Amino acid sequence: MKQRDGARGSRHERGYDARWTRLRDRFLRENPLCAECLRCNRDQVADVVDHIQPVRDFPDKRLLKSNLQALCVACHAGKTAMEQYAREIDLLDELPIWVADISARPLRFRPSGFR
Ligand SMILES: [Zn+2]
Repeated sequence: MKQRDGARGSRHERGYDARWTRLRDRFLRENPLCAECLRCNRDQVADVVDHIQPVRDFPDKRLLKSNLQALCVACHAGKTAMEQYAREIDLLDELPIWVADISARPLRFRPSGFR
């Protein structure tokens, strides 16, 4: 991959290029609230755009809108923990189901009130 001076290859390899930046900004404008907070009946402004299926595992899905969700910082931390667990037990394919449906998650990843 061609690199501009000063740009580190790893950033490109991880998918954080200009196309991603534009997509992320537009996605946040279209989805200003945290998707996980909405699932929990809370209104919270989103801070980050999360890849539901991680770029490192599914690089072909990095610019797929259906693989994105807007999250607040706290919910992103929770998603990351759930993602690490899914990777450990080799169930990354289940992650989109867990993300969308709180009742389908392992107990430890259900927010209080959804146990
Ligand atoms: Zn949230």
